[in-house]
Amino acid sequence: MPTQVIDAVLFDYGGVFTHSPFSAAAPMAEKLGLAHETLLHIIFGPYDRDTDHPWHQIERGEIGIEEARNSIKSLGREHGAEVDLFEFFGAIAAITQGMNDAMVEVARFAKAEGYRTAIVTNNIAEFSEHWRKTLPLDEMFDTVVDSSQVGMRKPDPRIFAHALECLGNVAPHRAAFLDDFQGNVDAAIELGMHGILVEPDPTEAIAKLRQLIAKS
Ligand SMILES: [Mg+2]
Repeated sequence: MPTQVIDAVLFDYGGVFTHSPFSAAAPMAEKLGLAHETLLHIIFGPYDRDTDHPWHQIERGEIGIEEARNSIKSLGREHGAEVDLFEFFGAIAAITQGMNDAMVEVARFAKAEGYRTAIVTNNIAEFSEHWRKTLPLDEMFDTVVDSSQVGMRKPDPRIFAHALECLGNVAPHRAAFLDDFQGNVDAAIELGMHGILVEPDPTEAIAKLRQLIAKS
């Protein structure tokens, strides 16, 4: 009798199927004369929490991109820097070209093996048209949970609960979750899920997932 450890695999999108957008801030920080961490904090706020920082609000679909741009500009000025969100998006686009083929392959494998699959992404409504074209979502995933559509964002435990419910009430301990941000992985682990951190080199994360979905 084959033993199966999990029933579902949940994937973050940015930094998992693409290269990590966080590293895009480094050259911009240098240009602005800010520490990398400071610029990340201005743009993303305390990313391991769910707050009313403009980036968090835009990810929950509460404000539009222009409003977030203006608010983040003000936050930048508190540090004496002109931080333009659109310039940052340009930097992200430049480094996140191309998909992580090995991750796409393991996601396809999981689906083909009968695992339920989902994307759980903190995203921005204005980006939707672009990123949704980068993968055949209907073919690869049973459900796509986009923070800007559901009004909840990681690490809020409710978005994980929502995704598990969409997959047919999968129990947390029967699901794996992959993300390139440690705070999100920690939140999933706290709920009882198998959290896997995807590093810039995703080899180890893919090996861990393959181990969980290997049927023996
Ligand atoms: Mg990510």
